[in-house]
Amino acid sequence: MTDFANDYLDIDTLLTAEEIELRSNVRGFVDERIRPHIGEWFEAAHFPRELAKEMGRLGLLGMHLKGYGCAGRSAVEYGLAALELEAGDSGIRTFVSVQGSLAMSAIHKHGSPEQKRTWLPGMAAGELIGCFGLTEPTAGSDPAGLVTRAVRDGSGWVLNGAKRWIGLASIADVAVIWAGTDEGIRGFVVPTGTPGFTAIPITGKLSMRASIQCDITLQDVRLPADAVLPEVTGLKGPFACLNEARYGIMWGAMGAARDAYQTVLAYAQHRTQFDQPIAAFQLTQHKLVDMVLEIQKGTLVALQTGRLKDAGKLRPEQISFGKLNNVRTAIEICRNARTILGGNGITLDYSPLRHANNLESVRTYEGTDEVHTLIMGRAITGIPAFA
Ligand SMILES: Cc1cc2nc3c(=O)[nH]c(=O)nc-3n(C[C@H](O)[C@H](O)[C@H](O)COP(=O)(O)OP(=O)(O)OC[C@H]3O[C@@H](n4cnc5c(N)ncnc54)[C@H](O)[C@@H]3O)c2cc1C
Repeated sequence: MTDFANDYLDIDTLLTAEEIELRSNVRGFVDERIRPHIGEWFEAAHFPRELAKEMGRLGLLGMHLKGYGCAGRSAVEYGLAALELEAGDSGIRTFVSVQGSLAMSAIHKHGSPEQKRTWLPGMAAGELIGCFGLTEPTAGSDPAGLVTRAVRDGSGWVLNGAKRWIGLASIADVAVIWAGTDEGIRGFVVPTGTPGFTAIPITGKLSMRASIQCDITLQDVRLPADAVLPEVTGLKGPFACLNEARYGIMWGAMGAARDAYQTVLAYAQHRTQFDQPIAAFQLTQHKLVDMVLEIQKGTLVALQTGRLKDAGKLRPEQISFGKLNNVRTAIEICRNARTILGGNGITLDYSPLRHANNLESVRTYEGTDEVHTLIMGRAITGIPAFA
């Protein structure tokens, strides 16, 4: 029997038993460990560091990477986990993305065997936290404009510069820092205890409050020769990692949207006005139906993208389709969901406005709507319109 309220098109029939089992494990973790506390964490601007080890035990950190203690799961499984985590909160899914798809994936893709052995097992277990420093105060959408420099110093390196918006940096054990060198942009593996490295959390955020982002200062940070990621030079290094994270985001956004929709479906069936449950009004049903249409479409986009990724055929331009469509759609769904809650919708007792606010960050990082529109425009026309 089709569960029209929750899986209108029977999308679950496209998933394997293993995928459904993994999804239900992550859903259980979110229900038990995130959902009961997330309102408090969001209000207090608190990131629950202690969950990292639990997520490590569940195999969620670097879960699509192979070896070095990583779970080696498929792209679709990683996507399903991202969806469930973001149904809890974007901040929690962001932690998993920064740890696995950015910091760990940079070391896994571009690092030496020694760097991989040193960092990846502890990061997969959640015992060590990683961050990924690309964005700078004056270089965001255009990372080619970064001004952080690494210069050779005998056999080693000295880093100077600043990074902004770097997730988890103040609690991280290791930072992957991208810097200009005489040879082009290189990545450096920087233990955060290295003298000259400081990370200060950004305060006053209206979005992503159960999560940490920092300003990093690098002042005469001295590193040994083997701190550089040996396997890559140029922006293709960070972009390969960003593509991993962007892929997870398209799934995650549908999780936030689904949670907002399910929250207001239940509310509308019980809340009575004009002697009717508000779900009985045509205007409310119109809103709910629009949500179902877009959640189902967005989930199919994510699934098709994941199947392409697992087949080794996914193009970065196709990731832009999913990231742009699914995040933009999810924000609209969460905002519309908020209206069904009336005044109660502006409190942390209900998830939709928290999700909508979080998604403002999600639409901005890993390529803004405009950047992904430009990537798709270039793919369609063959003409770059970035400048
Ligand atoms: C919560 C959060 C977490 C983050 N985590 C990390 C992290 O862990 N590591 C990291 O390195 N970075 C991180 N970032 C930074 C993020 O990647 C940048 O914010 C993003 O790339 C946008 O850069 P910007 O904020 O400098 O905006 P800008 O690049 O200044 O853009 C401002 C506006 O101009 C538009 N714009 C820019 N160029 C064009 C163009 N060519 N045509 C049309 N419009 C254009 C943009 O789309 C946007 O609307 C994070 C950001 C946030 C908010």
